[in-house]
Amino acid sequence: MQGLMQYHPLMISSVIEFAATYHGDTEVVSRRVEGDIHRSNYATINRRAKQIANALDAMGLAQSARVGTLAWNGYRHFELYYGVSGSGRVLHTLNPRLHPEQLAWIINHAEDEALCFDMTFLPLVKAVAAKLPTVKRFIALCDADKLPADSGIPNLQSYETWIGAHSDQYVWPAFDENLASSLCYTSGTTGNPKGVLYSHRSTMLHAMAGAATDVIGICSRDTVLPVVPMFHVNAWGLPYLMPMVGAKVVFPGGALDGKSIYELFEGEKVTFSAGVPTVWQMLLGHMEANNLKLSTMKRTVIGGSACPPAMLDAFREKYGVTVNHAWGMTEMSPIGTYGTLKGKHLEADWPTQRSILLKQGRAVFGVDMKIVDPNGGELARDGKVSGDLLVRGSWIVQEYFKGEGGNILDRDGYFATGDVATIDADGFMQITDRSKDVIKSGGEWISSIDVENIAMAHPAVAMAACIGIRHPKWDERPILVVVKKPNTEVTAHEIIQFYDGKIAKWQVPDDVQFVDAIPLGATGKMMKAKLRDMFKDYSLPA
Ligand code: AMP
Repeated sequence: MQGLMQYHPLMISSVIEFAATYHGDTEVVSRRVEGDIHRSNYATINRRAKQIANALDAMGLAQSARVGTLAWNGYRHFELYYGVSGSGRVLHTLNPRLHPEQLAWIINHAEDEALCFDMTFLPLVKAVAAKLPTVKRFIALCDADKLPADSGIPNLQSYETWIGAHSDQYVWPAFDENLASSLCYTSGTTGNPKGVLYSHRSTMLHAMAGAATDVIGICSRDTVLPVVPMFHVNAWGLPYLMPMVGAKVVFPGGALDGKSIYELFEGEKVTFSAGVPTVWQMLLGHMEANNLKLSTMKRTVIGGSACPPAMLDAFREKYGVTVNHAWGMTEMSPIGTYGTLKGKHLEADWPTQRSILLKQGRAVFGVDMKIVDPNGGELARDGKVSGDLLVRGSWIVQEYFKGEGGNILDRDGYFATGDVATIDADGFMQITDRSKDVIKSGGEWISSIDVENIAMAHPAVAMAACIGIRHPKWDERPILVVVKKPNTEVTAHEIIQFYDGKIAKWQVPDDVQFVDAIPLGATGKMMKAKLRDMFKDYSLPA
């Protein structure tokens, strides 16, 4: 017997329509690339998204046609999220930090038919425009008077002229909720990047799961500043979640330095934020150097890379901000786990709570998660034994765009994340390494993350990466590559001494090498492969 309830497909457009109806005057504030602060609201965003939908219809773009964006977090990008997906096309968010060649490769692979870009990226678009045969129109996200006369880019139009020519009257269509809504390519640390093609259904379920109090849990009383870029896995779902709950939005544009973020936090009374550790490092540095406090910020979620313990401590002790750790990946929309305490932990002392909060978190409802041995056998959830982390669920990839990489699921539909983790009896997962970054010394694994976290607590260390170096006896031994904080001095010996009593002696790095910079990937993650390459001729001290 079938249930007798109504069926309505889960449509992304329903979110902005809802926000416009019930939270129409709630503000959407943006720091524009022009440098000024722009104020809009959900009602206006919805109207302008409808203008986009009409403009795409006028271009004759078919259902599921891809529209690329090269843009920071801002109101125009937000409008594109809804105008493009809501009208049945696919929003393809591109990472501007990629090399131009790689960017052109991705745009061509996706067969983008239009490309919308912030003026900051004009030189980048100029460099690749001639190599993009599928792109019929280039749209600069600016007013008509900001458009350069001789850009050299064919069919270039300003966004305001483009949408300004179209009505804001449009009825969002309903269609199969399994149709594609957006496309995001993986960081591509190995091989060519691969496309993850989200659907309306997966995106809506992911956002609804994120709304739970034990997960992101924002509400209409929050002011949210997503530092995580809208080109990195849909800013962790926040562009859908914020209007779903009617939260005030603050978009930082391209100014992600500590001073700019701090000004917006205080000026707009931000209560919740989200980002990768590298950005928080800059904010904490700025506040420390200028002896500043945070007056409205309550919570932040840190993910994308492991949150160093020193960062959690600084936020809590100096600024009264709760840090929740989250883990996920492009292939997971991205949220897989979120680190909030359970009721039974509330009575525990701070060191116990801290150790729980430093884990990557518990599986969010909707994500099945397990760890397995090399033969696929499930391992114990004892918080000690670590294994390959597998996931499945309604917002987890089934196959890559255009079938790249073939079948990526096991017999039971699980996807191998490439992360190595433990899961404890309460379900808290802790990443111990990326499978390819783990260091194997004498048959034992050394977690590069543990080694890095300790170094990050040293007052002179700005950034630290631990890599394995080939060793005749032990196979591999860890060394630490360090970027010093400005105007500080520290020796390799002092850093090695800093490990005393903190980890087992055999896990302590054999050497510390100082560098000016550690190569970062397009999403701010340390590129260990590149680093290993930089040190390929290095030999360990005798
Ligand atoms: P991406 O697809 O670029 O978001 O990268 C996903 C990968 O980032 C994961 O497979 C992890 O290796 C890493 N990652 C994401 N969140 C965390 C976290 N909280 N702690 C440690 N690693 C993380």
